[in-house]
Amino acid sequence: MPKTDISPYLLLANIGHLLTLRGGAVPRRGRDLQEIGLIENAAVLCGGGKILAAGPQRELLRDPWLRTNRRKVKELDCRGCVVTPGLIDCHTHPVFAEPRLVDFEKRIGGAGYEEIAAAGGGIRSSVAAVRRSSRGELSKKVLAALNAMLEQGTSVVEAKSGYGLTMEDEIKSLEAIRDASRQWPGEVVSTLLAAHVVPQEYAGKADDYVKKVCDEMVPLAARKKLAQYVDVFCDRGAFTQEQSEKILAAARKHGLGTRVHVCQFTAAKLAPLLEHRPASLDHMDCVQPEDISLLARGETVAVLLPGANYFLGHREFPDARRLIEAGVPVALATDYNPGTSPTPSMPFVLSLACTHMKMTPAEAIAAATINAACALRLQERKGSLEAGKDADLAVFDVKDYREIAYWFAWDRCVEMVVAGRVVGKNA
Ligand SMILES: [Zn+2]
Repeated sequence: MPKTDISPYLLLANIGHLLTLRGGAVPRRGRDLQEIGLIENAAVLCGGGKILAAGPQRELLRDPWLRTNRRKVKELDCRGCVVTPGLIDCHTHPVFAEPRLVDFEKRIGGAGYEEIAAAGGGIRSSVAAVRRSSRGELSKKVLAALNAMLEQGTSVVEAKSGYGLTMEDEIKSLEAIRDASRQWPGEVVSTLLAAHVVPQEYAGKADDYVKKVCDEMVPLAARKKLAQYVDVFCDRGAFTQEQSEKILAAARKHGLGTRVHVCQFTAAKLAPLLEHRPASLDHMDCVQPEDISLLARGETVAVLLPGANYFLGHREFPDARRLIEAGVPVALATDYNPGTSPTPSMPFVLSLACTHMKMTPAEAIAAATINAACALRLQERKGSLEAGKDADLAVFDVKDYREIAYWFAWDRCVEMVVAGRVVGKNA
């Protein structure tokens, strides 16, 4: 959706359900996660890329400034549709070259991790393909994914490297993210995930690779301003708790934020990781009961990724209810990646959250907007529709907000507004 509209003032009129997500404590916890700030028969006035006013249409149209300047304002007739803040996909891996079809078919046949790797699949096949690809080829793939996300309602994306695993290929991956983000109307937050797995050439020498990540890759990514965060995969088959802590310490030393893939396959002790003040801990399928109360007292957001459970054919999903009821702030994301979650669709993730994790549609939407903004520490600008915040809005062709999570594998997003401009389909 490359076309943009140049009108500086935009009025979204005739909104059936407007979900403002305003008010209340941020991030949303417990019962507050239900608070979506619903206004019926609403309108939103945008100007200079920001929200100027959002509220009942009758009140908004009485605004003296709007009455005298109505001709300067472009109008978008929402025809009774549902409008939400632009969805925020706070966990993706878009820098890859090819789908992982060997894994897909082998897994259908019942193969495990080792057998898939032996057949030429697995994460190492993605690494080989990224190493062979040019920065330009990768940035085209990233941009295509960002556009697919935008078409389905997403206006902010966190994007990780992690299939390069050499200095050169990780930097190339981060540059591909930056190049793509410059051609995309939404906002991209980039993350160095050099500690995704131990690359083959460091087999048996994981500590040497960790040292390279800490002493060379993290400082260079920081110096080149290519990453805002550093992520590490702390789990069986990836990095140990001790190695993960070293990488998080290096990130903080170089002024970068931290986030961790943890508790996807095996449990980990979260207290030492939380010392590094991660913005989010992601997956959290195997979080231990004693760590839940610890999380409930902090600001770190638990990012749940049910797309991976779905695609791997798992019967178990993260225990969202237990986390929410304990007061842990939760967010949702696609985990878009070639191995375990090849979907750009946040609405599909909302559907999975409702059907498989027993979140309500309201909770799922709050987790994909205001709480996802918190997971990226963007809550001052993103995630709710309030005067002064960025004018990022998604228009869904449904009459009731619950339908966004109800229809699945059906793209109901008909319009996107990013920074106060209509982008895409009807621009
Ligand atoms: Zn991931």
